[in-house]
Amino acid sequence: MDFASLSTISRLLSNREISSRELTQHYLDRISQKDASINAFIHVAGELAIARANEIDERRTKGHSLGLLAGIPIAIKDIFCTHDMPTTCGSRMLKDYLSPFDAEVIRRIRSADMVILGKTNLDEFAMGGSTETGFTGPCHNPWNVESTSGGSSGGSAACIASGMAPVSIGTDTGGSIRQPAAYCGVCGLKPTYGRVSRYGLIAYASSLDQAGPFGQTVEDLALLLQVIAGHDAKDSTSLSLPMPDYAAAFMESPKKMRVGMVPSHLESPGVDREIRQHLKNTIDIFRNLGHEIVELDMPHQQYAIPTYYIVAPSEASSNLSRYDGAHYGFRAPLSRTEIGDESPLVAMYKHSRSLGLGMEVKRRIMLGTYTLSAGYYDAYYLKALKVRRLIRNDYDAAFQKVDVIVGPTTPSTAFQLGEKLNDPVQMYLEDLFTVGANLAGIPAISIPSGLHSNGLPIGIQLQAAPLAEDKLLAVAHAYHREIDYQPSIAP
Ligand code: GLN
Repeated sequence: MDFASLSTISRLLSNREISSRELTQHYLDRISQKDASINAFIHVAGELAIARANEIDERRTKGHSLGLLAGIPIAIKDIFCTHDMPTTCGSRMLKDYLSPFDAEVIRRIRSADMVILGKTNLDEFAMGGSTETGFTGPCHNPWNVESTSGGSSGGSAACIASGMAPVSIGTDTGGSIRQPAAYCGVCGLKPTYGRVSRYGLIAYASSLDQAGPFGQTVEDLALLLQVIAGHDAKDSTSLSLPMPDYAAAFMESPKKMRVGMVPSHLESPGVDREIRQHLKNTIDIFRNLGHEIVELDMPHQQYAIPTYYIVAPSEASSNLSRYDGAHYGFRAPLSRTEIGDESPLVAMYKHSRSLGLGMEVKRRIMLGTYTLSAGYYDAYYLKALKVRRLIRNDYDAAFQKVDVIVGPTTPSTAFQLGEKLNDPVQMYLEDLFTVGANLAGIPAISIPSGLHSNGLPIGIQLQAAPLAEDKLLAVAHAYHREIDYQPSIAP
């Protein structure tokens, strides 16, 4: 069953060659065998999953109509609200939180009759690039357990790479789907901002957050996107526009296209040599497929990291102000002596936030509070918004000339666990190639392109104009077909 694509699994299910219960049990067994060494899951919902699988099997037996991906198991990043299992966001602050409602993405997954296996590990409140800061400990890379799985959706990528789930859902604010997908050797897609509802997705940076699918193949991403995308009146930024048939579009062989590339990516000493070589080979493959290669100048790309690291913490400081022990989240017990001369209310806020939130989250709240404060707002936040516009303009100009842009997903392969934990700037620099798509709101995909000589996977990123997910999927699929890409389980 390992690495069967969703369409194969669907066929086996509808031909009754396998039941959803057997399939679900297969993945739960795999989780019991493997997750002690990977730690991809924060919560495994074994009983719920089996009950749900039984229910779907029964409906199938009775000939009832079923959803698009009926009976297929899925893992969910622990940042989506679920009414029947905990939603912790990897934070002590929400350790005991049980949401009274389902996120819209979850509602759609349930109405497609999928089976939720559990909730996956992440960096606390999705702030990070290594899935090391959550309160349940780090997630390990299935290709090398000493290495990071990437982040913040590391659990959602690692569970697929180790065969613990066929597909999963993550979120991407600055690369959190694409970077772990690249590090773990799986496919991951960040859709256009507004394509997938953010309702019930715990907010990190609301103008950048977007949910998306992980899978072994581009086809799996297309099918899952079909399930989760579409307008939702409960999210005011959700786009009310017609949706292509992604599940069909990915197969269309793209006609002669213009493929953009940024020449400095092939030369930069900041990018690993073998990754540059992979990119070069990928460009050659596109050329051989008959596409025209166009060199692009993206002059403001160099400001993407500083811009992102002002915009995202600013929004985070505002979004996370609700976790104060009164409105939401953990409340620290306080003794009279701890309160001292302070107002009891202020002391309660202080202690709850001090104990409930981790280092990186506090760093970003402080940074964001600073950049939004009177006197600094114009110099930092407003300036960052202006540069964000220039970055978007670069992309708009580029998409006048090309259909897609190809480049590396990350400057290096997965780094060691702990390596960058005490050096936030080094950690932030890993987001060099991913944050641009979030700042501009455009769709981007990371697909595996092979292994590095260090044994770790390499990812290639493709970006396209807003709402051109169908094009991205088609190009990515054609590339995989050309290199005869076969998903493989981490050794
Ligand atoms: N690594 C980036 C950050 O730390 C991206 C995180 C994300 O996309 N959620 O903010």
